[in-house]
Amino acid sequence: MPTLQATLEEAYEAVLPEVGQGALANYIPALARVPKTKLGAAIVTLDGEEARVGDSDEAFSMQSISKVFTLSMALQKVGATLWHRVGREPSGTAFNSIVQLEREHGIPRNPLINAGALVVSDVLLENRGVQETVGAIRDFVAGGLDASAVVVDAEVAASEAETGFRNASLANFLKSFRNLNHPVAAVLEVYFHQCALSLSCKALARADLFLAADGQDPLRGKRIVSPRRARRVNSVMLMCGHYDASGDFAFRVGLPGKSGVGGGILAIVPGRAAIAVWSPCLNEQGNSLAGTALLERIAAQTGWSVF
Ligand code: GLN
Repeated sequence: MPTLQATLEEAYEAVLPEVGQGALANYIPALARVPKTKLGAAIVTLDGEEARVGDSDEAFSMQSISKVFTLSMALQKVGATLWHRVGREPSGTAFNSIVQLEREHGIPRNPLINAGALVVSDVLLENRGVQETVGAIRDFVAGGLDASAVVVDAEVAASEAETGFRNASLANFLKSFRNLNHPVAAVLEVYFHQCALSLSCKALARADLFLAADGQDPLRGKRIVSPRRARRVNSVMLMCGHYDASGDFAFRVGLPGKSGVGGGILAIVPGRAAIAVWSPCLNEQGNSLAGTALLERIAAQTGWSVF
């Protein structure tokens, strides 16, 4: 049996030719400046084994991967009543699509598309201000990691705010259906800042290990969510974590996963491990092209698909 480190290195070498294919997320100017050549990955197992390769120590913009953490926080805060305001079905549309919102009366299909994540940000704003909410999200992601491992990148947040016309439209639409309790500007500010969290693959794999461990984080030595909730967050990720490419990701990788337009992807191997990969160029659905290929290879070599 090759070691996990050897398996990861083999997968990395195999995928290197795909690095740079696809396009950077140039609708957010700060993300368009990231070098196209980056590829990194980290795996942390529940037995404490860690494997890393390439640019695994370099911080990148978390973007929509933050939605998994804010979903976990919102479920902690309001429990199953969250599902009155947001669904849990795949959307089959792009992450920033507005088309279903009108037909479905302002209830977003799921919490991992932008409309759903805006509702989740609104839930997290309850009883606290914008700065405090952003700080709570950062602290939740950072958890047992050292304090400098997860930071808010103010430049990315400002860049998103400058060009966030679609997100502003989604938020205004949600507000018109009374599915936001706080001012649109406050919800957007929380959302842009959660997307602008920056961390490395090494930190990300550690941060989401609780989802592989029935909600009990072995690194932090404490329960983050209940076992049932961890399973449910994973199921939402499997069905919705890659937007209109969720089916393709399940087909190729077979793990609950969540992508971000910064080029990161987290994948959960229930009962075994958490994986984080990063390569900034995206496929047409806005998911890391080389990152997906790397996960496909890792899943094939380890036999870790849930199917
Ligand atoms: N901040 C990005 C946006 O709202 C997040 C999208 C993503 O990562 N898919 O457009």
